[in-house]
Amino acid sequence: MNDSPAKRRLDPDEEALLLGTIDRWVERDIRPIVKEYDHADRWPDEVVARMAEFGLFGATVGPEYGGLGLPATTYAKIVMRISSVWMAITGIFNSHLMLALAIEKFGTPEQKRAWLPKLATGEVRGGLALTEPDAGTDLQGIRMTAKRDGGDYVINGTKTWISNGIHGSVFALLVKTDPHAEPRHKGMSLFIAPSGPGFRVGRKLEKLGYKSIDSAELVFEDYRIPADRLIGGVEGQGFYQATGGLELGRINVAARGVGIAEGALELATNYAQLRRTFGKPIAEHQAIQLKIGEMVTRARAARLLTLDAAEAFDRGERCDLQAGMAKYFASEAALENSIESMRIHGGYGYSREFDIERLYRDAPLTCIGEGTNEMQRIIIARQWIKRNAVA
Ligand SMILES: Cc1cc2nc3c(=O)[nH]c(=O)nc-3n(C[C@H](O)[C@H](O)[C@H](O)COP(=O)(O)OP(=O)(O)OC[C@H]3O[C@@H](n4cnc5c(N)ncnc54)[C@H](O)[C@@H]3O)c2cc1C
Repeated sequence: MNDSPAKRRLDPDEEALLLGTIDRWVERDIRPIVKEYDHADRWPDEVVARMAEFGLFGATVGPEYGGLGLPATTYAKIVMRISSVWMAITGIFNSHLMLALAIEKFGTPEQKRAWLPKLATGEVRGGLALTEPDAGTDLQGIRMTAKRDGGDYVINGTKTWISNGIHGSVFALLVKTDPHAEPRHKGMSLFIAPSGPGFRVGRKLEKLGYKSIDSAELVFEDYRIPADRLIGGVEGQGFYQATGGLELGRINVAARGVGIAEGALELATNYAQLRRTFGKPIAEHQAIQLKIGEMVTRARAARLLTLDAAEAFDRGERCDLQAGMAKYFASEAALENSIESMRIHGGYGYSREFDIERLYRDAPLTCIGEGTNEMQRIIIARQWIKRNAVA
């Protein structure tokens, strides 16, 4: 089991209607503005407003809290479609949904009632704050502390790389409630941390790609919150809660990778038929065909692996192995397809006037987020060996 109840698959007409709406929105409102916003690293207010209208801030939140309660398969297809044009904006609702998932899966009934309805509408937006300047992969090495003081906790420390850090106003915040606990994870807790006195943005982080969405350092100095903000109400569960959303998180990153891999393929397919050298379209040169053959196959395999993981998730099965494989393969496919597409574009691929340079800058993030691909392969191998242990 994956800890989440099995999700109802949408009927095919219902899903087609929803995806058709997303497609039209992407073509009509996103494609025409993406280059300008990405190059200016500008926050897309109108796009965010439309996301809220579509219900994307509550896409995976249960209908009892005002969400769409979408199955992971449909959710992944939405992310694929948007990412084929502009991957970065999927982070605006995805990081937010990771916060909502932590509350929905592990929160007390009061916490769910208080937070989920306003998160589902996008009235309040936020994200997940785990990483610190000297602890990313080794999450148990974080140094942020929360000390009990009467009916409150007082929090001190710094988070970094937090998506939605500037435009969001509430975060699932991973801290140490017992910095000396052994094993270390037993001293970790997760809080619902809304902005307030003692919580400020340290700085906006400049990035290679993944523009327009804000990534920030968040500083907490004697930040005081009531004890009822501790997710689940019990200390020591934070590591388990923070990583409890990883299956869906990895399916989401895999879907972003599929989107980029398919988007890069589409750009290359079009360009290769229009650009002519030596009297014929470059699509007729075998060197280009070899590239396109590999790109099509990679994109298709990435899509199937991702949907395979999403289907297992929707059946309520444990799917960490499938989600890990999908995330690893699809993100590498995004990276490889974006550079191959760039090469097919020749010198124009290096120009900021063409779209492929954005996909090329955005792709590497998918190899880092929700567990780096180095770790991903190690985890896949360990699980595989464990499941196939020789007695
Ligand atoms: C644009 C962006 C957005 C992000 N958004 C968020 C967010 O919203 N919330 C959040 O909490 N974090 C966020 N992150 C942080 C991200 O999750 C971390 O960067 C990631 O977990 C890696 O941690 P690190 O950067 O500290 O690298 P490190 O952990 O220092 O790793 C450095 C290298 O060592 C490798 N490595 C580390 N340990 C091992 C090991 N045991 N075996 C083999 N190799 C190893 C890694 O794979 C990597 O190649 C974001 C990052 C970026 C770039």
